[in-house]
Amino acid sequence: MAQISTIAYYDGHIVNHADASLPITSSAVLYGMSVYTVALLSHTPNGLYGFRLGDHFRRLRESAAMIGMRDADYSDEHLSNALQLLVRAVAPTRDMFARITIHATADIPGVRTAGITPKLSIFLYDATAILPMDGASLKTSTFRRTRDDAIPARAKVNGAYVNSCLAKQDAMDSGCDDALFLNHDGFVSELTAANIFLVRDNTLITPDTASDILEGITRRTIIDAALRDGITVCERRVALTEVYTADEVFACGTSTFVAPITSVDHRCIGDGTIGVQTRWAKEILTTAQRTDNEYTTLL
Ligand code: PMP
Repeated sequence: MAQISTIAYYDGHIVNHADASLPITSSAVLYGMSVYTVALLSHTPNGLYGFRLGDHFRRLRESAAMIGMRDADYSDEHLSNALQLLVRAVAPTRDMFARITIHATADIPGVRTAGITPKLSIFLYDATAILPMDGASLKTSTFRRTRDDAIPARAKVNGAYVNSCLAKQDAMDSGCDDALFLNHDGFVSELTAANIFLVRDNTLITPDTASDILEGITRRTIIDAALRDGITVCERRVALTEVYTADEVFACGTSTFVAPITSVDHRCIGDGTIGVQTRWAKEILTTAQRTDNEYTTLL
């Protein structure tokens, strides 16, 4: 279990994280009506860097707007000040993840999304990767990815993560590290908390943004770097058997970094080792996290 900072930011204050609690009557507790993001804070000799925070803040606002939390329009400045307040109080000495959540509260709950008071919370925890870095195994999930017209995967909504919990537990019970979601059309979508890339004939292929995925910030970082480095990238629908026959497969996300996938449904991917493009993706992500136009200095 990753270690969590003992203090947290909650609704304008720095508090003990155990005291940052929501009423049992809140829509956040009753219906999972909260939106969140997780950002990497890198501890370096030159300071503490927050990776692509502007993108995280925008996605958080867009997630709230998509599900109709109309009163949760926190500005970059507001979110940044809150994070700064916590970071100064914790003064991390190692890499951390910052989980930033907007919770919907309501005195008289009901299944609605507007007119409910938002509350912002942030806590930090150790930046430990959630998948093995030396080759992870996937199982195609029997649970399909929630459709865009049910609960959009594009919005990072806490309640929607029941879908991920079901799939992840099922995969782990079967002895695999994570699940591979198909969408309702039967095409590859993503993992439970990461995006997926395939390499076939030196081309990077990833499910497009209409494949019921979360539009990952790490995914975007890899696509941008590939375009810059002259690597062909294709965002399109992906069939499961393309994954089985790929030369390489890797997962990417803030909490996954770049994780090589060496088996899917007990089929070996490529030669079962970490491929050249996967190593390239790992390297460019580490470089991007230390590149000054990609990060904000927090401490
Ligand atoms: N898909 C899902 C379902 C996720 O939960 C995450 C983690 N936020 C990702 C993809 C990767 O997104 P990001 O690169 O922004 O962390």
